[in-house]
Amino acid sequence: MEIHRQFSHNKIRLIENQILFQFYIEAGLILAFIICPHCQISLPNSYSVSNCIRCYMCNVKLSIYALSIFFNNKFSLNQFHYILISFLNNESIKHVNKCFSDSEIPLSKKTIGKYYSIFRKLLIAFMENFLENVNFSGICEIDEALITAKRIGNHGRLPSFRIWVFGILERNSGNCVLYLVPNRRRATLFPMIRKHIEDSSFIISDDYSVYVNNRIQPRTSKIRQFFPQKNYIHRWVNHSRTFVDRFDNNIHINRIERLWRDLRPTIKSKKRIDEIYGYLCEYMFFRFFHNIDERLRQLINLIQINNRLFI
Ligand SMILES: [Zn+2]
Repeated sequence: MEIHRQFSHNKIRLIENQILFQFYIEAGLILAFIICPHCQISLPNSYSVSNCIRCYMCNVKLSIYALSIFFNNKFSLNQFHYILISFLNNESIKHVNKCFSDSEIPLSKKTIGKYYSIFRKLLIAFMENFLENVNFSGICEIDEALITAKRIGNHGRLPSFRIWVFGILERNSGNCVLYLVPNRRRATLFPMIRKHIEDSSFIISDDYSVYVNNRIQPRTSKIRQFFPQKNYIHRWVNHSRTFVDRFDNNIHINRIERLWRDLRPTIKSKKRIDEIYGYLCEYMFFRFFHNIDERLRQLINLIQINNRLFI
């Protein structure tokens, strides 16, 4: 379906309203039947340029957008749709605004930004619930990153702040969980390991002293020691010497290191902790749901449940 292809050469190609209308009926954002309040008759909904259908009994006009998020909105189906798809394709507001600028349906950065922030709020709430049930198995890379970000207050620049992000990456799927943490003590990190990594999984970390007892030879795993019943296998890389184990080239945490490199520039550009938090949620969502159909299904579902945010 053309419905997902949005921009060609930075220009918007409008989709026929009728097609979009049908799409949003099937998605459940527009009612498939409109009930006439006078006659209680249920009328099959269909697109009309006037945005109304008439009751065949009493001839009263009824909005085709009744009880939908489109009811009071000034913008068209195409505008809504393009903002939604652009958000799910991770396009910047600036880029979307530019694509709209020489179309028949220009949209301001402010409007695009408003909808982006609603979508983002929905994703954050969704991820908070979703994370409760994430269980990784197989090979899992764990690591923490210290990120220094600028902080801007009402009176100019404040001292920069440092934040820790703890992450677990399931190597098989590429999915990850990311947490902002106040420190990297055992009491902070270990509950997340227990929560998200299934029994008998293969954990790979660096040789940070919370994970590995470096004081004895041969060195031992503190993760295994702490969770004997979980039956974890735990290997670690010695970062001061090598990035890949000399004897087993599966023993590395390069994937999660790459993830930090991905995240770092955007995190540094954020000015507030809640923006960083929102960004991490969005990043996780995009990794868990990598194709546009899945993303669209999830987000439309969230819009439906929370439609009061749009009205
Ligand atoms: Zn009627």
